Amino acid sequence: MTSLSEKRFHDEDAAREHIEASRWSNGVVCPLCSGTNARRMEGKTQAGMFLCNECRGKFTCRTGSVMERSHVPLHKWLLAIHLMASSKKGISAHQLMRNLGLGSYRTAWFLAHRIREAMRDDDHKESGGIGGKNRVIEVDETYVGGKAKNRAFRSPAPKKAVLTLVERDGRAKSFYVANVTSKQVRPLIVTNANRASAMMTDESPIYPKIGGEFKSHYTVNHSANEYVRLGSFIHTNTSENFFSILKRGITGVYHSVSEAHLHRYLNEFDFRYSNRSGLGVEDAERASKVLKGGVR
Ligand SMILES: [Zn+2]
Repeated sequence: MTSLSEKRFHDEDAAREHIEASRWSNGVVCPLCSGTNARRMEGKTQAGMFLCNECRGKFTCRTGSVMERSHVPLHKWLLAIHLMASSKKGISAHQLMRNLGLGSYRTAWFLAHRIREAMRDDDHKESGGIGGKNRVIEVDETYVGGKAKNRAFRSPAPKKAVLTLVERDGRAKSFYVANVTSKQVRPLIVTNANRASAMMTDESPIYPKIGGEFKSHYTVNHSANEYVRLGSFIHTNTSENFFSILKRGITGVYHSVSEAHLHRYLNEFDFRYSNRSGLGVEDAERASKVLKGGVR
C-alpha cells in the first residue's frame, strides 16, 4: 500500500524527481525533438527546466503530457492520480477539490478529466485484442445514467448504452454506443477482441452473426432464468460484476454523466478493472501507469 504521507504527495521537489524518474528512466529525452542530449538548467527560477542541446528548446517533465499548461503543482497531480487510481468507485471533482485544496471546482474537474485521458488504455490492440486462444470473453451491454436529482419537472435524461468486452481473469474495454445495433457494435467487438477467443453473450439478436466470427459463441438465456449452463462455463457473471462496479460509481459518485464525457469515465473504470490487485497490480504500479499514459 502506498502511504499518503509519502514525500512526493506534499513536496514539490520530491514530486518532480518522482515524475522525471518515471518518465525518463533510461535518460532524459527531449519531448520536442526526441533528442537525448539535454541538460538541466541551473538557478531557482529554472527549477525542473531542461535545455535541449539539439533543438535548443526548453522543456520540463510536464511538456507533452496531460500536466502541460496546468498550474496545479506536481505533488497535487500525483496525489490526484493516486486517489483516482486506487479508489474503488471513483472520486468526485468536489471531493478531489477538498482533498487537494484546489481553488475551484472547475480546476478539479479538468484535472480529473485529464487523468481519465491518461488512463485510456489501448495496449490490448497490440496483443491482438482482448482474449485470445483458450480465453473466454464476455460481451454485454448495460444502460447507465438517466437518474438525476432536481429533475422533477423535467423528463429524466435518457439512459446511455455501454458495451463492455471483458476477458475472464483479464481486462475490460468499454464503449459508449448511441444505438445498440449489430451495425454499431460489430466494429467495436472485432477490432478490440481477439477472434481466437470463446465468446459469451446473452440472447440478444445483435450477437449471433458477430459470434460466428469467433472461435466459438455461447449464449446465456437470462429470460428463462438460465444464468449458468454447462457447469460453470456458460455465464456472463464477469461482465455483470464489472457493470455493478460501473453503475455504483456512475450513480453513487458521479451522479450522472453527460454523453460527451461518458467515454472518459469508461476509461477510468476500465483502467481500474484491468489493473486491479487481483491481477497482481498494486497501487504504486497503477499510478505509474497513469503517469506513463499521460505522455502520448
Ligand atoms: Zn530537442
